[in-house]
Amino acid sequence: MTAPSLQERTVRLHASQLQGIRRRVDGLFAGLMAGQWVCGVLVALAFSPLAWEGKRTALSHVQTAVLLGAALCVLPLVLARCWPGTLPARQVMGVAQLLWSALFIHLTGGRIETHFHIFASLALLAFYRDAWVLLSASATTILDHFARGLLWPESVYGTADPAWWRFLEHAFWVAITNVVLLAACRVFQRESLESAERRAEVELAHEQKLHTQQQALVRAEQELRDFQQQYSRIEKLASMGQLAASISHELRNPLAAARTALSCVLLRVANLQDALTDSRILHFLDVTERELAVCARIISDVLDFARERPPQLTPCALRPLVDEVLGVVPTRAGVRLLNGVPESLPVPRLDRELFRMVLVNLVQNAVEAVPPGSGGTVRVHAEGGEAAPWRLRVVDDGPGIPAEVLPKIFEPLFTTKTQGTGLGLAIVSALVHKHGGTLSVRSEVGQGTEFLIELPSEALARTA
Ligand code: ADP
Ligand code: MG
Repeated sequence: MTAPSLQERTVRLHASQLQGIRRRVDGLFAGLMAGQWVCGVLVALAFSPLAWEGKRTALSHVQTAVLLGAALCVLPLVLARCWPGTLPARQVMGVAQLLWSALFIHLTGGRIETHFHIFASLALLAFYRDAWVLLSASATTILDHFARGLLWPESVYGTADPAWWRFLEHAFWVAITNVVLLAACRVFQRESLESAERRAEVELAHEQKLHTQQQALVRAEQELRDFQQQYSRIEKLASMGQLAASISHELRNPLAAARTALSCVLLRVANLQDALTDSRILHFLDVTERELAVCARIISDVLDFARERPPQLTPCALRPLVDEVLGVVPTRAGVRLLNGVPESLPVPRLDRELFRMVLVNLVQNAVEAVPPGSGGTVRVHAEGGEAAPWRLRVVDDGPGIPAEVLPKIFEPLFTTKTQGTGLGLAIVSALVHKHGGTLSVRSEVGQGTEFLIELPSEALARTA
């Protein structure tokens, strides 16, 4: 939607200003109507309770003031209350006001002073700033004078035989008043338009300034996002650089050991007879296999850390996944692995391959934490589904993590193990965040450690 132009704004502001004024004038006339009704009754009581001196009418003047006055008030009051500021309200108000003038003239027997009520009413009606209201009100009073001048002249002129053209005299003065009031209305209209135009200019300038500021903000946000992405790439590259140095260092020892072992095997193999009887050949082959396994682990951890792939969410039952993970993690004697995921747990949506990596790392860390020779238990629990967030726990009763080590365990390359890469938890944390979740740890020395993964339920909508 395009912003309104200066002209459209001016028209809108001018219309709303005029509307506000007309609503207030409707309120003013509503009060005036009620006041006139009271005054009408008082005038009738004071001047001519029954009729003019020596005359007879069907209704006494007090009755006329009460009944006709009430009838004149009803419609204007209803319109002013229910539809203030509308064209029908002000047209009815104008006609009713001039009928009030007619009633006052009638009650006072056509006294000349009462005729000034007409001019005062027209002046008040000019507050509506509407030429049509003035014209219809003027037509009402002229028609009233014409009709009553013919049918009931005492009621309007106080005499029984006025000249037939007397209403024209009255119409002339009404016309003069209208000319003055309409000129005043035009002046007001022009001033009000000018003020609306000034306000529209200010409004437009303010909106343009706001728009420019918003654009600047959007640009700044985009730049910040770009910068953050660039920063995280740089950070990653920096840690990859550190990693490269550490890998060369880590790989040098196992590879050197594997090479030495292999050259010994080759020497023995030169003399096949010796090789068959030499028991150290098997030892050397063992060393080679073990050290190459270490190299393979380092390389696969580095690749997992460096890999950038958004998760592809599919329905993935947790209990079978945990069974599979507990089956592949190399365990050691005395360590029990337990799957505590309920059979009935709803099926979340997650990236199976990435989540398998998360669980393998956490379970492997828990198994490795159990000191060699002593027993221990590693449990995996899960809960959630329906509207609740998903919670997965990997709990062990190992030695726990000392308080000074705890803040560092998620840093890449931090490890307390001689053969660790220190990348496992950094990978786990990144993968959980990619799923829109959080990873936290609770640990007590001597009691054990609990890793908690929390995933929002909406990110992992339940499948049927
Ligand atoms: P790595 O396993 O290669 O050392 P990780 O990032 O997986 O690297 O773990 C970092 C460190 O966190 C580990 O060296 C270990 O000190 C600590 N740690 C992780 N899990 C546990 C656990 N369940 N119990 C005790 N210490 C743990
Ligand atoms: Mg690890």
